[in-house]
Amino acid sequence: MTAMKVIRAGARPTKTAPAANFTGTVYSDEVVVGAAPSRMRASVVSFTPGARTAWHSHPVGQTLYCLTGGGRVQREGEPVQELRPGDVVIIPPDVRHWHGAAPDRLFSHLAMSELNDSGEGTAWFEHVSDAHYTAKPAPVS
Ligand code: MN
Repeated sequence: MTAMKVIRAGARPTKTAPAANFTGTVYSDEVVVGAAPSRMRASVVSFTPGARTAWHSHPVGQTLYCLTGGGRVQREGEPVQELRPGDVVIIPPDVRHWHGAAPDRLFSHLAMSELNDSGEGTAWFEHVSDAHYTAKPAPVS
């Protein structure tokens, strides 16, 4: 039987997210990279003001749980939406989108996804232009 494991907070230093896939300064704290047969992936991602992911998609979708600050998310072809702590975003499989901080706020979320049957994860595309990023967000209903 596999032993239960407690990974101490200090055991995994915060990583800087790669500039190839992010605009601005973004930090990532790994929560879990599941060992097979688990395909679970989760990390806390912290965006500085103005920072965001590049356009990307997830083969089995993604769930975002918003933790702190003020954020943004956009599905390609739809308006930018504001995100606040406690909001949950369900992103369907293979949908191009981006997420990140508001222009003037820090933002963090717990990002949860899974690999597909072929072991593939996130597919990355081009950076999000300032024109897309600064579009006025839809009113929060
Ligand atoms: Mn995503």
